[in-house]
Amino acid sequence: MPGFDFDFFVIGAGSGGVRASRVAAAHRARVAIAEDRDVGGTCVIRGCIPKKLFVYAAHFAEDFDDAAGYGWTVGHRRFDWAALVAAKDREIARLNGVYKQLLARSGVELFEARAAVVDPHTVSVGGRQVSARHILVATGSRPWRPQIPGAELGITSDEAFHLPRLPRRVVIEGGGYIAVEFAGIFHGLGAEVVVVYRGEPLLRGFDMDVRRHLGEELARKGIELRFKCEIARIERGAGGRLVARLVSGAALDCDAVMFATGRKPSTAGLGLERLGVALDASGGVIVDEHSHTSVASIHAVGDVTGRPQLTPVAIKDGAKLAATLFANKPSAVDHETIATAVFSQPPVATVGLTEEEARARRLDVQVHRSTFAPLKHTLSGRAERTLMKLVVDAASGRVVGAHMVGADAPEIIQGVAIAVKLGATKAQFDATVGIHPTAAEEFVTMA
Ligand code: NDP
Repeated sequence: MPGFDFDFFVIGAGSGGVRASRVAAAHRARVAIAEDRDVGGTCVIRGCIPKKLFVYAAHFAEDFDDAAGYGWTVGHRRFDWAALVAAKDREIARLNGVYKQLLARSGVELFEARAAVVDPHTVSVGGRQVSARHILVATGSRPWRPQIPGAELGITSDEAFHLPRLPRRVVIEGGGYIAVEFAGIFHGLGAEVVVVYRGEPLLRGFDMDVRRHLGEELARKGIELRFKCEIARIERGAGGRLVARLVSGAALDCDAVMFATGRKPSTAGLGLERLGVALDASGGVIVDEHSHTSVASIHAVGDVTGRPQLTPVAIKDGAKLAATLFANKPSAVDHETIATAVFSQPPVATVGLTEEEARARRLDVQVHRSTFAPLKHTLSGRAERTLMKLVVDAASGRVVGAHMVGADAPEIIQGVAIAVKLGATKAQFDATVGIHPTAAEEFVTMA
């Protein structure tokens, strides 16, 4: 493709941008990518990966307790926040290096600078203007916080990964993925946690049984849940502490207020509106099923679009776009029936329709539900219970939804998701011989 400096210029080296650039390069496109922060994006640098490392760290608290029921005497335990943050930072720095190497080995030129779109085929980056046949916007999203007095005194997940010390008491606003994941992290590491959520129960959009079950489990662990409640303002308290004043008038003393109130697409300053790239009300780039925008040479994948803000979605969309543009293989990702997990403690995982969605679609809904004490906790004595649920369309016999709250739910549902995606029936689930003794076998033995 002569006449342009590059065939493909990608703005943003997160999950979607990196995958798209590498697939494009594998198809012999001349590719550049711009990134003004570490390479790897939200997931690798300040999202999924450090979060999961923190979840592992937090879970040891329960593991030590549970070991006693198995005859172990665990000695004096002490948690060192600074050591965890440093270990996590070393791993993230390593991954940043790995991502840079992957780009270099693929022949993708990295511009370590902020980029903006000048015209449909020109990008300004690091004081230069470069031309490209296609431009990909993969700039991701950023945490958003409500505009309340004192909001600047609070933190978001970005800062939570770098706090100088573990807060003794944290107030988290929100009831979604990040709120419940960080509630489990801070609680497990020894902080007192209050979750303030404007709705009830947690995790709007998930199956109602899952939402209720998770709330019960979190409350049993000692996480304080305040529903139908919002923070009205944050004030400085005595001795460097904070006061979160709720709309109800209640005042919560704490060391940190964390906003987990959603993420907004990062499109500010990119110059997209000026070029006529259509954006939605929250600033997200509107794309068709092939990730094309309203301007023919400009495309978008990942959190910057209105699609589910999930790394595997960005990766798949990035790969498909590159194949569409550079391998002459127009293809699109099927965004139906995407499995997802919340790394709360216990974790939640789900694929397909909730019972409520299935009923709204007027399916002939049959529900199979099971709650039980996991075998491990017969000796540990922990009161935690697991929930598993299948939603079946009785007319076709197909399992249209599978939901779980309990240990290893994300690992288990990933396997179940293949069956659900393939349209397996309940009879086919039942014909599958279980693996004993596991929790997962419950999915093939539910009456
Ligand atoms: P979510 O959209 O999951 O949750 C946002 C929460 O904030 C909701 O409970 C919402 O309430 C509440 N909220 C929104 N606006 C306000 C407001 N003005 N005042 C008070 N509360 C408000 O966003 P997160 O920030 O938790 O995460 C962002 C996205 O990142 C997720 O949706 C997910 O796609 C992705 N993510 C995925 C993870 C994973 O795969 N494990 C982990 C972390 C993030 P309401 O329910 O009433 O709208």
